[in-house]
Amino acid sequence: MTLSQLAGRLLGVRERVVEQGGEGSPRVPHPAPTVVVGGGIAGMSAAVVLAERGVPVTVLEAAPTIGGRLGAWPEISPDGTRTNEHGFHAFFRQYYNWRNILRRVDPTLGFLRQIPHYPVLSARWPTEEFGRLPPAAPANLLALLLRSPSLRLRDLRAMNRDAALPLLSYDPIQTYAEFDDTTADALLTSLRLPDRARAMLFEVFSHSFFNHEAEMSAAEMIAQFHFYLLGNPEGLAFDCPTADYAASIWQPLTRHLEQHGGRVITEAAVTELHRDATGWQVMSTAGGYEARHLVLAVDPPALAALVAASPVLAEAAPDLVARMPAFGQSGPPYAVARYWCAGDVDPGRAVFSGVSRQPTLDSVTLYHRLEVESRRWAARNGGAVVELHAYACEPDVPAEELAERMWRELRPLWPEAGRLRIRELRARVEARAPAFPPGGHAGRPGVRTDADRLYLAGDGIRTDFPSALMERSAATGILAANHILRDEGGATEPIHSIRPRGLLARPH
Ligand SMILES: Cc1cc2nc3c(=O)[nH]c(=O)nc-3n(C[C@H](O)[C@H](O)[C@H](O)COP(=O)(O)OP(=O)(O)OC[C@H]3O[C@@H](n4cnc5c(N)ncnc54)[C@H](O)[C@@H]3O)c2cc1C
Repeated sequence: MTLSQLAGRLLGVRERVVEQGGEGSPRVPHPAPTVVVGGGIAGMSAAVVLAERGVPVTVLEAAPTIGGRLGAWPEISPDGTRTNEHGFHAFFRQYYNWRNILRRVDPTLGFLRQIPHYPVLSARWPTEEFGRLPPAAPANLLALLLRSPSLRLRDLRAMNRDAALPLLSYDPIQTYAEFDDTTADALLTSLRLPDRARAMLFEVFSHSFFNHEAEMSAAEMIAQFHFYLLGNPEGLAFDCPTADYAASIWQPLTRHLEQHGGRVITEAAVTELHRDATGWQVMSTAGGYEARHLVLAVDPPALAALVAASPVLAEAAPDLVARMPAFGQSGPPYAVARYWCAGDVDPGRAVFSGVSRQPTLDSVTLYHRLEVESRRWAARNGGAVVELHAYACEPDVPAEELAERMWRELRPLWPEAGRLRIRELRARVEARAPAFPPGGHAGRPGVRTDADRLYLAGDGIRTDFPSALMERSAATGILAANHILRDEGGATEPIHSIRPRGLLARPH
């Protein structure tokens, strides 16, 4: 334990148990067929927990491979077959529930490697380094403020400190009551920070949630500040798999599920749900499936489409149906482009860098310094495998155009990129991330629905404790599994969280 973690611990910045788990029998007494729709993190987390307790669980996944937005798939290249992925992911240390699922495939999490640096690049200002901060609040915040070249003492004096207090005072009820109708943009403006500090310290952060600040709830931004910086004892340090996500996560997790009697059926797009006195009937492109319990672990637009295509829910789940039109709107599109290049960037470049204030580009990852397959490709070809992301981009722009814009925007940041020759490019643009619009919190569905034995999981689903992105997907998947296990008399899974409220939150 570091000194900052010890100090944080004294202030309550430590891992918490949300649900103890364990009550019930290690295997359910009367196994009831259960279907999980969607084979991303949320669906697979639910399925793994259920299968371990003897629930006969079937995962139906529309795509040819599982993993969803953390997916990886084989593709043909001029050099033979290789694996491509949905994009770089940072596995933060406070992702306690997701890490517990991953421990099923590697108890020591040895497949993850710490990424030591987290620079933020700008064409206008010197690089800001988010890596190597003390892990826990308040030391991490103090170190960031003292060390950051983007924020001087005089800036701190001039800033609106009253407006900054809510960032330190996250409360799962009060924060939404006070700030959900405000935009993240308005909150940042009210801080009266110099433009540079806003760009380098805050904007990079808010973009990582796949929403524009002007369209994102200020309450969500405060919640994420708490989850990633101020309320967790692990800090901004993160890890990444050293092999692609198929090899390191999805293949072993599928094997684990199958060893416990579960099954995964790919290319099974669920088209409609029915229900009668015996339970749910799930219609898919791979046939129909009967289920006593049903978990819908699909992305928000897919959930809204499936609910709309299932008239039975109008009666069985009117509240869920009413929430869908707003919830089903995804955030803005995101773009991912991977470039296999001849030549390399400077050896000192970080594996992962955030980018501030370029019109399209939000991050750069050097895969040939991260994952084994890309390393080998680069060594064989004297090249580099570079991935560029845009987390919230302009709508209706083709993926190739976005890839070209991102590459162009990289050059002023890393001039040597201009000398690389792009041998191959794979580019995608999609809009499947949840939106967090102002005023949206009250309508956000939770894990439990108003229909009997119908549950939701995913990164857009509400949790009562701080969580986001991959961690929220895993946590809601486990919560859904726990509801089913309680119903069936099976032992539930423990659920963990960071400190539930901000350091300066008003006592209840
Ligand atoms: C480029 C990029 C970078 C990211 N970086 C990070 C990061 O660094 N850290 C982080 O924590 N998170 C990151 N995320 C977010 C993270 O990927 C998601 O939060 C998480 O993967 C969502 O998992 P999920 O299971 O909730 O949803 P999904 O992954 O979307 O899974 C839903 C699944 O349901 C399937 N499906 C949809 N409709 C149907 C249907 N009708 N029938 C059957 N199946 C269906 C889909 O094919 C999909 O496989 C990133 C996302 C992207 C796109």
